[in-house]
Amino acid sequence: MRVARFAHGERIGYGVVDGDALVELVGDPIVAGFDTTGTRIPIAEARLLAPVIPRSKVVAVGRNYAKHAAELGNEVPTEPLVFLKPNTSVIGPGDAIVLPPESQDVHFEGEIALVIGTVARRLTRANALHAVFGVTVANDVTARDLQHREKQWARAKGFDTFCPLGPAIETEPDYDALQVITRVDGEVRQDGVSSDWIFDAPTVLEWITASMTLLPGDVVLMGTPEGVGPLRAGQTVEVEVPGVGTLRNPVVAQATAG
Ligand code: MG
Repeated sequence: MRVARFAHGERIGYGVVDGDALVELVGDPIVAGFDTTGTRIPIAEARLLAPVIPRSKVVAVGRNYAKHAAELGNEVPTEPLVFLKPNTSVIGPGDAIVLPPESQDVHFEGEIALVIGTVARRLTRANALHAVFGVTVANDVTARDLQHREKQWARAKGFDTFCPLGPAIETEPDYDALQVITRVDGEVRQDGVSSDWIFDAPTVLEWITASMTLLPGDVVLMGTPEGVGPLRAGQTVEVEVPGVGTLRNPVVAQATAG
């Protein structure tokens, strides 16, 4: 099933997507399960929010598609390359990606995201997927010039608005058959499949949780296929994972103070 978080009037809640409506849940499904209040809310009347606010962190995998590693002149890694994005970088569907004045080269990176459902430490490949609540759609927005200039990627990957998530979480994904498509102003720029991942989801989860505990609501980004490129103010970027949803965000320049 697909679950979303929404604002409707004064209310913020969670719902199961059922056709063109949301069936309201009693609480955050990661902790409260799937009991419903019975209330149906037309999606057209609601505003969808980031389906999860990571409790502690977004962990991302770099260079997990061979052709993307090559397009930036990098070797294919022999073990997963992971970095962090702060949870303050998360925005939801329709929210603006803000281009900061510190970068002249902000790129989109359409990605498949795993939403963690349990406290997860030292997972093994065999049990790792049990820790996943579901799959959502992400854009690992990156200040490419800062990424090249600085050894640590905290700034390049961590600006406010640099982690759009949503619009929904699919709780029963077929991990072997996921596709991610990125469009800028309607033009396809990236089109990748999970079968091209260098490191699959169980391998990535085993690797990450060997060093850090993942908490319910944390998010893992699985890397981007080839075709990354710059975003300009006024454009709209959308990342689609068929069967999960389309994450659409406008791009704006940061307003100057005063
Ligand atoms: Mg990425």
